[in-house]
Amino acid sequence: MKRVINYSAGPAGIPLEVLEQARDEMLDWNNTGCSVMEVSHRGKDYDALHMGTMDLFREVAGLPADYHVLFTTGGASMQFLMLPMNYLGEGKEADYILTGNWAQGAAKEAKRYGKISNPANMEVEAGSGKFVAIPKQGELKLNPNAEYVHYTSNNTVEGTQWHYIPDVKGKPLCCDMSSDIFSRPLDFTKFSLFYAGAQKNLGPSGVTVVAVKDEFLAKAHDGLPAMLGYKSYQDKFSMHNTPPCFSIYILNLVLNWIKKNGGLEAIGKMNDKKQKLLYGMVDNSKGYYKGLANTDSRSSMNIDFKLPTAELDDKFVKDAKAAGIVQTKGYRSMGGIRLSAYNAVTIKDVETTVQFMQDFMAKNPA
Ligand SMILES: *Cc1c(COP(=O)(O)O)cnc(C)c1O
Repeated sequence: MKRVINYSAGPAGIPLEVLEQARDEMLDWNNTGCSVMEVSHRGKDYDALHMGTMDLFREVAGLPADYHVLFTTGGASMQFLMLPMNYLGEGKEADYILTGNWAQGAAKEAKRYGKISNPANMEVEAGSGKFVAIPKQGELKLNPNAEYVHYTSNNTVEGTQWHYIPDVKGKPLCCDMSSDIFSRPLDFTKFSLFYAGAQKNLGPSGVTVVAVKDEFLAKAHDGLPAMLGYKSYQDKFSMHNTPPCFSIYILNLVLNWIKKNGGLEAIGKMNDKKQKLLYGMVDNSKGYYKGLANTDSRSSMNIDFKLPTAELDDKFVKDAKAAGIVQTKGYRSMGGIRLSAYNAVTIKDVETTVQFMQDFMAKNPA
């Protein structure tokens, strides 16, 4: 068996121990004599897993009891519309901070449901789709009439990340954490609602986790279609219809893996070490590797850089693959290289990669 060093931006690598456990339990899960995919979602085995995973999520995040954990489908993209659908409408307004591609995507959907303002728009030039920085607290121009403020904690495409939680002056704060959830300790109680598609740091695609504070949930609209209203998810414990059982099972294993590895404190230290190694390589390459994001806004999850020429970018991707380091190609609009070093990428993987980068630079002068 040969496992590669996997820098996929999403769906991303899953910790090896988790995959091994899933493999071992594939034919007989929990002494049921079948896999978790083959039991009723209304039965007691699945029910314990489902409810237990919500509790485990709360535990890892350090969320108090007044937060509800919901499991939705349709990815983070579905949350782009569910959030405004549940809180906006005729005459309602919301703030969307624009720091990248996905933040723009969220704002675009929200516009269907209300008036959207932007406390900051970091697009380098209107229409360019280019973003390199996170705004400073002082730069945020909040709309006093906004029902909530939405931002994207990590910009997966651009390789930028918020290193602070914005102070939104008492407004409900909502966050798309799809690409850096549980990568570091964070005061999750600052958020009225946050969500993440599982396929970057939490497991496979198919399930999206939404955590919502009770007082904010109470303000969601009633009378929405059951599959779109936050309140019906809570009322039915996210089991109005068949949940994505297998994805939730893997999510459970990943959350246990985080716990076993020392929780978010320890995971944060590991990711910090990884990013220091990778950016250290970039910064010490005398300009051979050029980071794409502003230094103070760099992401610990998506490390974006380019080589002296597009030809060398391509050769890097090819040679890396031959060395067992895969999915290093940058996002199509960005070019260059993107190393998505989510939680499942180990320090050892990163050390191997840095050595590869060192060797590549020596063998392929500009
Ligand atoms: C990947 C990603 C999304 C899109 O997620 P889907 O589950 O494919 O809808 C949204 N936001 C961010 C920040 C992402 O990284």
